[in-house]
Amino acid sequence: MEPSQVAIIGSGLIGRSWAMVFAAGGFKVKLYDIAQQQLMSALENIRQQVKEMEKLGVLKGALSADQQLALISVCTDLKAAVEGATFIQISLKVLVLYLIFYDCFYNKLLHLVMRPKECTPENLELKKKIFGQLDLIVDDNVILSSSTSCLLPSKLFTGLKHVKQCIVSHPVNPPYFVPLVEIVPHPETDPSTTERTYALMKKIGQSPVKLSREIEGFVLNRLQYAVISEAWRLVGEGVISPTDLDLVMSDGLGMRYAFIGPLETMHLNAEGVSNYCERYAEGMRLVLNTFGPVPEFSGETAQKVNQALSEKIPVVPKALDARRKWRDECLTGLAKLKTQM
Ligand code: NAD
Repeated sequence: MEPSQVAIIGSGLIGRSWAMVFAAGGFKVKLYDIAQQQLMSALENIRQQVKEMEKLGVLKGALSADQQLALISVCTDLKAAVEGATFIQISLKVLVLYLIFYDCFYNKLLHLVMRPKECTPENLELKKKIFGQLDLIVDDNVILSSSTSCLLPSKLFTGLKHVKQCIVSHPVNPPYFVPLVEIVPHPETDPSTTERTYALMKKIGQSPVKLSREIEGFVLNRLQYAVISEAWRLVGEGVISPTDLDLVMSDGLGMRYAFIGPLETMHLNAEGVSNYCERYAEGMRLVLNTFGPVPEFSGETAQKVNQALSEKIPVVPKALDARRKWRDECLTGLAKLKTQM
């Protein structure tokens, strides 16, 4: 049987990582971008990463590095990519269009469903233009999905003819090692689009969660901003240094959160959630009532945090890249550990 085919639109940081995820899942991937140079650099970067992971024994999926690389090709013509998809549909193959954060995919029972996934820069007008182009090309079986971190589906998809087939699938960088995907519907998204997207993400080994409606920041960034906000206030008020603040997370809360969430933490830290609330609700409310207003993220505190972090990791490409590489190696090790548990 021919492998299912995916077209990914946008070959930057996220698009190339999605390409690797789909290739690891055995999908044929067509990576689309406006710049040939960008595609060449994406291909080379993917090749290096996949080979390195194979060497380290952390390559995902059942295929070898060479087999996965052979599944990925590049394309600079959007219409050609979509026309290819139509052709594949006729040949009863499964197609996924991965457009800067559009993913196209298919469902079961030989019904073909394309999900263009769009991974272009976080620019509303650009994304609307691309979705507008896709809207004219795709058929009623295609699911159009965006990787946007913060643009609401109602801003991206309203007015499209295929709005029922549109959805946000927000990944966490790098999606290859951090599997969470937030699935966020437009108010007019058909429930089957959500279900198919969820099934697709599971199939390629990601960890999808469904939001019942759109909300600013989705869920991951709302939680992240709550943490950043309190971290900022504590450092700003001189309660703790920037370095020690980060340690509270990396050697404290974060150790636990790689395995269990805050709600399960409550459950386990007492005799169940109800008991936790009986014991700690008053204390939590007391503390929460001392939280300050939303920070400005500027001025003295910004200087203080910037200075501390720049001393640790100088703001030059070499130092930043080395630290990012170290971070990704840690995430690789953690991902491996989690698969063994
Ligand atoms: P990026 O800048 O690395 O890549 C964007 C790519 O889009 C580039 O390759 C560029 O050439 C291409 N592009 C630009 N205009 C295009 C067009 N008209 N058609 C096709 N391709 C075009 O950006 P990124 O970090 O990969 O982010 C992509 C999307 O993913 C954004 O919406 C972002 O919010 C989201 N996202 C990013 C992260 C992250 O940490 N980087 C995490 C989650 C979600």
